[in-house]
Amino acid sequence: MDDIFEKFPLTEEMRRGNEVSWLNPNLDNKLSDEITEKDVDEAAERLSRFAPYIRKVFPETWDGIIESQLTEIGSMQEMLAREAGAPPFGRLFLKCDSSLPISGSIKARGGIYEVLCFAEEVALKNGYLGDGDYSILADEELKGLFSRYSIAVGSTGNLGLSIGIMGAKLGFSVTVHMSTDAKQWKKDLLRQKGVNVVEHEGDYGEAVAVGRAQAASDHNCHFVDDEKSKTLFLGYAVAGRRLKAQLDAAGVNVDAKHPLFVYLPCGVGGAPGGVAYGLKQVYGENVHCYFAEPVEAPAMLLGVMTGMRERICAQDIGLSGRTIADGLAVSRPSELVAKLVGDLLDGLFTVSDDRMKKYVSDLYTVEGIFVEPSATAGFPGYILTREKFSAGLMENSTHIAWATGGNMVPENERSVYISV
Ligand SMILES: *Cc1c(COP(=O)(O)O)cnc(C)c1O
Repeated sequence: MDDIFEKFPLTEEMRRGNEVSWLNPNLDNKLSDEITEKDVDEAAERLSRFAPYIRKVFPETWDGIIESQLTEIGSMQEMLAREAGAPPFGRLFLKCDSSLPISGSIKARGGIYEVLCFAEEVALKNGYLGDGDYSILADEELKGLFSRYSIAVGSTGNLGLSIGIMGAKLGFSVTVHMSTDAKQWKKDLLRQKGVNVVEHEGDYGEAVAVGRAQAASDHNCHFVDDEKSKTLFLGYAVAGRRLKAQLDAAGVNVDAKHPLFVYLPCGVGGAPGGVAYGLKQVYGENVHCYFAEPVEAPAMLLGVMTGMRERICAQDIGLSGRTIADGLAVSRPSELVAKLVGDLLDGLFTVSDDRMKKYVSDLYTVEGIFVEPSATAGFPGYILTREKFSAGLMENSTHIAWATGGNMVPENERSVYISV
């Protein structure tokens, strides 16, 4: 590992704790055969099948579909442009997964999708759902069936919330493995819903490893593997086509003369990876995807830049992996995602905790929208890419900062960042 600083001089900047950006010299728009258009079609169809049930138990969803607003944020755009000392260009939108129904973060896409897949499998195996009526999943009989099965997951927080809330609602016995430093309110909320929360010393990676090992010894237990799950990935990928429908509705064209830029906060990689993959299926080379990571936890940047994928971690270059950005406190990237998505990315960049905190407060002040720190990591992307193409082309560009979480954060926690 010693020659890493020589081979990749950017890692020296990263080791010093500086914000960096990296443009991918291997950018290639070729999608893998491992995840096809048909796979994502099937995921979208499965989510539609469940809509009558979801509508019944979570009326706050969009008629049983778990989706979020796409909101233009002109004032935030002006603020970012001012910061860059340049005039605003194109249009900037916020994808408000911070207010996704049920669990208030992007994990409501992949996490809930995987729980639904397992529920469908168990129900079909036991002779239910044959007639296609999924609303019966709310019946006590089905809950009784599911109570004989369990779901386990290792999580920094938001994935645990998604799996826990959805799993418990269906009647499964759910165990969430968390590191001891995960937020108290998340543990409390899960326990309130009847979820078994197991705390682990050490970081997220260890919580996942212990969870995986315990689940392996139990046949009726499904382990949601944040680092390896294609199911999670598919749930996230459905966002691509849904976003296209929203952009179409907003009259936003995406083509060679109207490029789309998307900035996605990245932890282990599954959520931003799935979304980026889904977007590439829809828009190909006309969408430009960037991942944003904390200065101290640049897992995917290290994995993709060095080509070492999951064989390198933040600690290897002397970083702590610690950050206030809950969902992004990940030291080692997902091998699956680095492989499927690494070359689809235009670039990756890192953001300091202070900058994320500042944007939480700025966004609330100028747009009245609260998001958690992780969710603001994408904003610097708007500044970074301003000279990517000619000024004329950039004038026609559309930018989306993906706000990945925030809605579940209790009021007293919000006031740490903003004055409510
Ligand atoms: C999980 C999470 C992310 C990143 O998702 P990964 O799949 O870990 O890359 C970003 N923001 C928030 C708020 C999250 O909870």
